[in-house]
Amino acid sequence: MSDKYLVINAGSSSLKFSLYDMGEVKEIVNGCIEKIGDSDSFYTLKYAGKKVEKSKSISNHTEALRTMMQELLENKFINDIKEIKGVGHRVLHGGEFYSQSVLIDEEVLANIKFLTKLGPLHHPSEIEGITIMQNLLPSACQVAVFDTAFHQTMPKENYMYAVPYEWYSENGVRKYGFHGTSHKYITEVMQEKLGKEDVNLIICHLGSGASMCCVKYGKCLNTTMGLTPLDGLIMGTRCGTIDSSIINYIAEERNLSVSEINTILNKKSGLLGIASENDFRDLNELASKGNERAKLALKMFQNSIIRYIGQYYMELNGMVDAIIFTAGIGENNIDLRADIVNAMSNALDIKLDENVNNDIARFKKNQSGMISTPDSKIKVFVIPTNEEYMILKDTYEISQKLKNSTSRKLTKGN
Ligand code: ADP
Repeated sequence: MSDKYLVINAGSSSLKFSLYDMGEVKEIVNGCIEKIGDSDSFYTLKYAGKKVEKSKSISNHTEALRTMMQELLENKFINDIKEIKGVGHRVLHGGEFYSQSVLIDEEVLANIKFLTKLGPLHHPSEIEGITIMQNLLPSACQVAVFDTAFHQTMPKENYMYAVPYEWYSENGVRKYGFHGTSHKYITEVMQEKLGKEDVNLIICHLGSGASMCCVKYGKCLNTTMGLTPLDGLIMGTRCGTIDSSIINYIAEERNLSVSEINTILNKKSGLLGIASENDFRDLNELASKGNERAKLALKMFQNSIIRYIGQYYMELNGMVDAIIFTAGIGENNIDLRADIVNAMSNALDIKLDENVNNDIARFKKNQSGMISTPDSKIKVFVIPTNEEYMILKDTYEISQKLKNSTSRKLTKGN
């Protein structure tokens, strides 16, 4: 019986999980439990080309994880929970503590708890997920994979804000960046594709949460998200970069508290705020019917991406190996990719291969490929991201190191 590994992503009201068989390194099943805490919670399981949906009232993450384990056993995805040798936990914030994934021990868990102030929406459920899995699987290797870790190579001049220095030294105010697991995955894919370690890339992770990363010599040089995921690009419901004086101004104008404004900037702004629609497919449909707000939102989203491509092109002194589009919108939105590349074609001397671009999306013949022409100065790619794979890889590698060091200790002891 080969070893099984679990990848867990515990959101504030959802739980995503994937179970892998490490013999053939393949996913056996993945699932998503949604609306945890609501009476109408439900979950979906996907395995062997099937999709099963069940409704069940699940009041907290403990119950969600128990439901997951029950399904794994009942469907014989595992015969015994001891078959699970490793669990990789997605953790939002590693602060300045972690520049890579780590084995979770008491100190790591204490640090994740300490960082709750920087990830108040995510860390409580992630901590719950870790604690429960430690209790359920005491002998499995539990690993934390941080969304911020890949960005820890940013130089200080790129991660500091020009605010009183004590805000950084005493309160931790700085740019941390997020989606690091995705940006790292894309960097590794590109290193393999381009046949070199020291790749210079501009990665556009465009999902409902969106961020970009400037990679110099295979390491993060800059990224668009900041202290929290609110900064940078315009997103589905987040405003991205704005003049911070707006907060004070609108607090007085509309008699709102800072906390209310923070919620609005995170949940009611971005594409939703402009066009009352945050799903890109629906937004496109509205725009195609002539809806002016939808057209405006699309244009603003596109411009925010172009602005950062321009900035990162300069930060890399023009030495860009590739621009990459990834995540839900980046992988599927043919027109947006074309508009962005065409809008910069003169400035960057890049050329779109329209035929190839038209054929790449999840619902098309191809899901990845180079969408620039051979004579384009900078190559442009569409690469599907795979954060789960990255979490699995780190968890497996850490568990193997641990196993080897334990067996070495045992041999020495003998
Ligand atoms: P997240 O992981 O941040 O929730 P995703 O990477 O799943 O986000 O991306 C979600 C976005 O991708 C949504 O705006 C959705 O409309 C868009 N998207 C998904 N499929 C398509 C598609 N076929 N065409 C255009 N947009 C798509």
